[in-house]
Amino acid sequence: MNMDGTLTPMMQQYRQVKESHPDGVLFFRLGDFYEMFFEDAQKASQILNIALTSREAGKGKKAPMCGIPFHAAESYIAKLLSAGLKVSICEQMEDPAQARGIVKREVIRTITPGTVLETGVVADKRNNFLASITGKGDQFGLSLMDVTTGEFKVTELTSKEELMRELARQSLSECLIPKSFEQDLSLFLSRELPRVMVTAIEDWKYDFETCQNLLKEHFHIQSLDGFGCRDLTWGVMASGLILNYVKETLGNSATHITQLLSYQRTDALRLDKITLRNMELLDSLHPMEGNKGTLLWVLDQTRTAMGSRLLQHWITHPLLDLHEIYRRQEGVGELFEWGVELGKLREILGDIRDLERLLSRIHCDFANARDLVSLRISLEIMPTLKAQLNLFHCEILSSLREDLVDLSPLKELIEKAIEDHAPLGLREGGMIRHGYDLALDELRDIARSGKDWVTQLQKKEIERTGIKSLKVGYNRVFGYYIEVSSPNLPQVPLDYIRKQTLANAERFITEELKHYEEKILGAQGKSEALEYEIFIKIRDEVKSYTASIQKMAQAVATLDTLTSLALVALKNDYVWPQVNDSDVIEIEEGRHPVIEQISVGEGFVANDTLLDGHENQILMITGPNMAGKSTYLRQVALIVLMAQMGSFVPAQKASIGLVDQIFTRIGANDELARGQSTFMVEMNETANILHHATPKSLVILDEIGRGTSTFDGISIAWSVAEYLHQDPDVKARTLFATHYHELTDLEMTLPGVKNYNVMVREWNDKIIFVRKIVRGGADKSYGIHVARLAGLPKAVIERAKDILSCLEEGTIRLEELPKGPFLEKGLEDAPRQLTLFDPRSGLVEALKILDLDRLTPVDALLKLKELKEKFLKV
Ligand code: ADP
Ligand code: MG
Repeated sequence: MNMDGTLTPMMQQYRQVKESHPDGVLFFRLGDFYEMFFEDAQKASQILNIALTSREAGKGKKAPMCGIPFHAAESYIAKLLSAGLKVSICEQMEDPAQARGIVKREVIRTITPGTVLETGVVADKRNNFLASITGKGDQFGLSLMDVTTGEFKVTELTSKEELMRELARQSLSECLIPKSFEQDLSLFLSRELPRVMVTAIEDWKYDFETCQNLLKEHFHIQSLDGFGCRDLTWGVMASGLILNYVKETLGNSATHITQLLSYQRTDALRLDKITLRNMELLDSLHPMEGNKGTLLWVLDQTRTAMGSRLLQHWITHPLLDLHEIYRRQEGVGELFEWGVELGKLREILGDIRDLERLLSRIHCDFANARDLVSLRISLEIMPTLKAQLNLFHCEILSSLREDLVDLSPLKELIEKAIEDHAPLGLREGGMIRHGYDLALDELRDIARSGKDWVTQLQKKEIERTGIKSLKVGYNRVFGYYIEVSSPNLPQVPLDYIRKQTLANAERFITEELKHYEEKILGAQGKSEALEYEIFIKIRDEVKSYTASIQKMAQAVATLDTLTSLALVALKNDYVWPQVNDSDVIEIEEGRHPVIEQISVGEGFVANDTLLDGHENQILMITGPNMAGKSTYLRQVALIVLMAQMGSFVPAQKASIGLVDQIFTRIGANDELARGQSTFMVEMNETANILHHATPKSLVILDEIGRGTSTFDGISIAWSVAEYLHQDPDVKARTLFATHYHELTDLEMTLPGVKNYNVMVREWNDKIIFVRKIVRGGADKSYGIHVARLAGLPKAVIERAKDILSCLEEGTIRLEELPKGPFLEKGLEDAPRQLTLFDPRSGLVEALKILDLDRLTPVDALLKLKELKEKFLKV
C-alpha cells in the first residue's frame, strides 16, 4: 500500500478505500454527508452541478472536495449513473461518538445501472435488465437478470446478429463482457445500444466449474438440469458471472433470485431491432409526450407497474405456440364479455403495490417499515381479488386464481407489528406497534415517563430551594442539568454538584438526576435498538414467503395485462382473431391501432388484406404520396403481432396464419449520425431480410430503393421482389409499397404478385384521398398535388405540371432499360443488377448524389430531366 505519511489519518483511510474500489465515484460518509474527494470531486461537482470546495488533507495540502446530504443521495446517484459512472457507497461502520480514533468505514455496495435498487433511480414501469455475455466464435451464452424484480434467464445464440437482436428487445441498462471481448464487442454494443453501460470482467472469472457451483449453491440444488441448462455451457458461465457480480456489487446474497429460466429465441416471434423501432412498439420514432404514438400507448391500460412491465414483454415477445396464444385469448375473451364489470376488477388491481420490487427490497435488506405496510395492504386485497376471479371459468383465469394463495398469517403479522405511518428510517423508532413486544413497551414507558419525571423534579426542587426561576433542562453535550440564575446562587443546596458556568447562571447536577438520566437516556436508546431488531426479524420472516409472493405477483401482473387488453378491445371495438397454422393472413376491415386513435377530423378508413403463400404472396401497393401506403403496411404487421401476443385486433374479422418473424424495411431512415449513408443502411436491412426470411415470415418493404437514383432503385426493388417470390427458402408473405409504378408490371410475370393501390379521386384539378386499398396499380404519382398541399407557390406548381407532361411523353419505361441477365438465367446473377448501368458513364454516381427523399417533387423532376438528357440522350 503506498501510504502517504503527510496525509491526515482520515485522508489516509480515504486513499485506502479508494484504492480498493477504483471503479466508481466514491461516496465517503462523513456524518450526515457523502463526501467526494480529488478526481471524484472534480468530476462529480460538474455532473451534479454542486460547489467544489476543499478540505485540509495534511501538511497544508488541500484536497478538492464536494458533498451531498446522505438522505438526498438518490437523485444524485441517478445523475451519476446516467452520466455513465458507477457509485461506491462507503459507510461509517461504527457510531462516531463511540469510536476510538478514526471511525471505521467500509464500502457496503457499489451501485451500477444494472444493480441499482433505489426506487427513485429505476423507472417503475420498465424492467431494468443486467446482461452477461460470453462465448467463442459464433456461440454465445446470454444471461439476463433484473435485480429489481428477481427475474433471471439464460439462453444461447449462434451468431452475433442473433445476440444483438435478442439484446435489442430487452430493457437493458448494463452488460457484462469478458475483458478479451472488449475491443470487439464493446464497440458494437456502444453503437447498437448506446445507453447500455459495458462492464468488462477479468477473463479468468469465466470458469465453467466455478460458475456452475456458484449457481448450484445459490439455488441449493445438485444439478442445473432442472432449469434446462444441461447443454448450456456458455449460458451457465454467463449466468454464474452475473450472479456473482450482483452479489458483490449489492453486498448482499440476493436471495430473491429464486430460479433461472432457460429459454430459446425460437420461443417467440422474431423481431429485429429495426423492426422493433419501425413498428413503434414501445418507443416512438418521433417522441411526442412519453410513449404517445406507440402500440404500448394504445394497449397499456394496466393498473400496476407489474402489469405494465409484463405487457411490454408480451408486445416484444409475441408467441409462436398456438395453444398458448389461445390460452391468453380465452382470458381476454372472458374478461371482454364481462364488459362494464371490468371496472370493479381494475379498481381492485389499482390498490395492489409493486410486489416484485417490494420483495427485492426486502431481500436486499433495503425495505423499511413503509414497504412492509405496502405489502400488507396488497395482501389484504387478495381475498377480494380472488372472489372476483371466481366469476371466470377459462383455464388461464382459473389458474391465476390458484396462484393467489392465502397469506393471511403474514398479513396479520405485519398488521400486529408495524405502525401504519412509520418513519422512513429504521434507527429512530416509531415502527413497531404498541402491544407487539412487552420488553419494548416497558422501555418506551420509561423513556416517556422521563418527561413527567423532569417536570416533577423541577417542581420539587423549586419547593425545596425556594428559587422560583429554577429550571431542569437537557442538552446533548452535558445531559440533564438544574439551572440557577446568578442572583439565586446563594440558595443552592449543598448536594448540588456544579457542572457548567454560563454568563449569568450556573448549571448543576444531583445524584438523583444523574441516576435518572442514565435510566431514561438508556431506555430511549435501548428501545430504538430493540425496535430495529424486531423489525429486522419481521422483515426476515417475510423472506420465508418469497415463493408465494412471487407467484402472487406474477398472477397479478398477468391478470392486469389480460384485463388491460380486454378493456382496450372493448373501448376500441376489436375482434378476437383466429390464429392458425395455415399460411393465410386474412383481415376484414383492418385498422391501424395507433393512427385510428390519433387521426382527428377524418375518420379512419378500414381496409381488407389477403396474403398467402401462393397467388397472394406479394402485394405490390402503389399510390401517391400521403395516400396511406405506409399506414396500411404497418397496420397489417401490427395486427399480426397483436394476434400472436394474445390480444384482440382492430378489424371486423381476422384469421392469421402464424408468422415466425416480422421484417420491416422502411424508407428514408436517416442514420447519417451513425456514419452510414441512408442507402447503405437500406441495403444492409434489405440484405438481412433476404438472408433470414422464411415462407412463414411477414415482410414489410416500404419504399425500397429510394435512397439511390430512380433506375438503380427500380432495378433493386424489382430484383428483390423476384427473389422473395422465387427462392423457395424465402418465399415470404410480403407487403411491398412503392412509388415506382414500373413494378406493377411484375404482376404479369410473377403469379404470386398482386397489385393494389390506394385510391385517390381527382376532382377539379385537386386530389381527394379516399384511403381505400383496391386491386390494380396506380397510374400517376400525384407528387405535384402533394407539393401543392405542402404550400409551394402557385407559379412553381404550374411550371412543374408543364414539365411533367413533357417528361411523361418520354416516360422511362422498363422495356427501354437493358434487361438484367438474371431474368433469363436465374437468381445467381441477381447481384449484377446493381451494375445495370455502366458505372463509367457517371450516371450512377450522379444519381446517388441526388437524394430524392430530400428534394421537393418539383426539384426532383427537374433534376431527373437534366440527368436524363445528359446521360440517356433522350
Ligand atoms: P404514404 O405512405 O402513402 O405516403 P401514409 O401511410 O404515410 O401515406 O399516410 C399519410 C397520412 O394519411 C397518415 O399519417 C394518416 O394520417 C392518413 N391515413 C393513412 N391511412 C389512413 C386511413 N386508412 N384512414 C384515415 N387516414 C389515413
Ligand atoms: Mg409512406
